[in-house]
Amino acid sequence: MNIVIFGPPGAGKGTQSKFIVDKYNLYQLSTGDLLRNEIKNKSSLGNKISSIMNSGELVSDEIVSNLIEKFISNKDYKDKIIFDGYPRTISQAKNLDILLNKYNQKINIVLKLSVSLETVKKRILTRQSEEKRADDNEQVAIKRFKTYEDASKNVINYYNQSNLLKVINGETSITEINTEISGIIDAIKG
Ligand code: AMP
Repeated sequence: MNIVIFGPPGAGKGTQSKFIVDKYNLYQLSTGDLLRNEIKNKSSLGNKISSIMNSGELVSDEIVSNLIEKFISNKDYKDKIIFDGYPRTISQAKNLDILLNKYNQKINIVLKLSVSLETVKKRILTRQSEEKRADDNEQVAIKRFKTYEDASKNVINYYNQSNLLKVINGETSITEINTEISGIIDAIKG
């Protein structure tokens, strides 16, 4: 089963992905983590994208698509991926379908975590003191939330049309969200 986890920054996508990975033996593909790794390793790609990421804008579709294709094409991960932070735009959603189709796969569920801007701000400030992410400060958090809001409606409509979308209240506790997600996955696995 391949799962997309979707939501604004600070919605809990990473936390919930790790829980799903452990419980269902999947692999987490976090485009944000892959990009941060490039910056940490000071690769030429890393140097190119660091200012874009630190301003809260999206990096180009082409860069992210290349990163995810490496993952999707790997047989070890076939039908075992949780996409965390991809797709973020309608063109990425369409590209993901094309790539999955190329490797004989598809998306089984799209989990959307809904949280307010107020919650996003609070969580990002907490995460800033714990993880020291360069893009976790209030101003950039607001920018990232707006970037998400601008593109998300089209992505949500796209997945709603194919009946894949499950909306989850991301304001409740981590455990409550875990339980709700398990219920959804178990029902689909049958
Ligand atoms: P995240 O860790 O998912 O919050 O992503 C952090 C940053 O990485 C974003 O603000 C973007 O600059 C970049 N990024 C992550 N995923 C994508 C994506 N799918 N498309 C474009 N940029 C991305």
